[in-house]
Amino acid sequence: MSILLDRYAGIVGNEVIDQLYQLTALLESIRVVHVNSTKQGGGVAEILNKLIPLKKELGINVSWEVIEGTQDFFKCTKNFHNALQGNNIKISKFLLQEYENVNRKNAERLSNTLNDADIVFIHDPQPVPLLESFPNRKGEWIWRCHIDVSHPSRTIWKYIKKYIKNYDASIFSIPAFSQILPHVQYLIPPSIDPLSEKNIELDKKEIETIASGFGIDTKRPTMLQVSRYDYFKDPVGVIKAYRLTKKFVPDLQLVLAGGEATDDPESQSVIDDVRETAGKDPDIHILLLPSDAHKSINALQRSSDIILQKSTREGFGLTVTEGMWKGKPIIGGDTGGIRIQVVNHQTGFLVRTPEGAALRTRYLLLHRDKLNEMGKKAKEFVKENFLLTRHLREYLTVMVSLLHAQKERIEL
Ligand code: UDP
Repeated sequence: MSILLDRYAGIVGNEVIDQLYQLTALLESIRVVHVNSTKQGGGVAEILNKLIPLKKELGINVSWEVIEGTQDFFKCTKNFHNALQGNNIKISKFLLQEYENVNRKNAERLSNTLNDADIVFIHDPQPVPLLESFPNRKGEWIWRCHIDVSHPSRTIWKYIKKYIKNYDASIFSIPAFSQILPHVQYLIPPSIDPLSEKNIELDKKEIETIASGFGIDTKRPTMLQVSRYDYFKDPVGVIKAYRLTKKFVPDLQLVLAGGEATDDPESQSVIDDVRETAGKDPDIHILLLPSDAHKSINALQRSSDIILQKSTREGFGLTVTEGMWKGKPIIGGDTGGIRIQVVNHQTGFLVRTPEGAALRTRYLLLHRDKLNEMGKKAKEFVKENFLLTRHLREYLTVMVSLLHAQKERIEL
């Protein structure tokens, strides 16, 4: 066993790693390609940054390609994102043409890599039309959807479905997102990497140094939300919840930590709204972090008492998983993937309004024994369900089942 896999075995047990090897044995000499739209920023990049090296470690020939887009392309795909998560948005013909053109250009650039690959994972809507340019493709193409498509705008779904229906399979994060499609659909929740800089143990002193470096008083109670600045993450709602809680917990601090995903043209206006709502309150810390600030996020999550993820739509919510892994209960929006992580009253609380979030935050801050008990359960829940090794096992299983679809029996 490699040193890296040995370290995972130390967390999840040898049996889990043995299963990964058994599945990999059935995937000998295949070539796998993942395609998404950004190397950094957001959950998809976070996962691929960890998943690809682990696949390589198992001996799989895997590569990761990022499509190159224009400003109008990303404007269009941000509109897709919003529309597929339920907003009623019209996208102009011009932007749709740009979306298709950019995909055609990327198809030319990536033609050798994609035409001969045995398995291609296309992540989210941005690179979806690539498939069209490969009528003679060798491999199985899978659309991996990371967003909440439970109530998509019908017009936009209809538009994108004309591409998606030609894929060989789709993967959604939870059952509520599955769609009527003419191919097999797999349900695979994402995961976090317990060995990454974002999730490894840190010593107390280091946590304090990092948090106080951001002006946070580590002796006072703190609530935190880590998120891209995106309206669906409801950072303004978090500030409202903080204000309501502060009436009962006067020394409370709020930290909003985020950066800018390279494919998101909307974040500046969210940041402006957040700043305006926060006003001059010295206890609200609005942090704009570089995309590689993993250790800082780790320390902020560990130094906070309560972690919020008050999203109004959420594909999965890796920030929820990360917070739970640090033994913190989560106060999360009652939506999408947060629902399968936050077991209400056990690993945190599901909320729908700033008032609800404030009520639960206040309860936990004033009942430390409950806070600690729920935090412990949260960590255990992540260990059982949402670590990288489980995620990888399920991706390998999908690959095995697609590549051996003609066989009656698959011997592991
Ligand atoms: N993240 C980060 N820096 C930031 C904001 C977020 O590294 O400034 C990370 C966060 O820790 C998590 C991921 O980006 O790992 C966000 O994934 P999630 O599923 O929560 O949301 P998404 O951004 O994909 O909608």
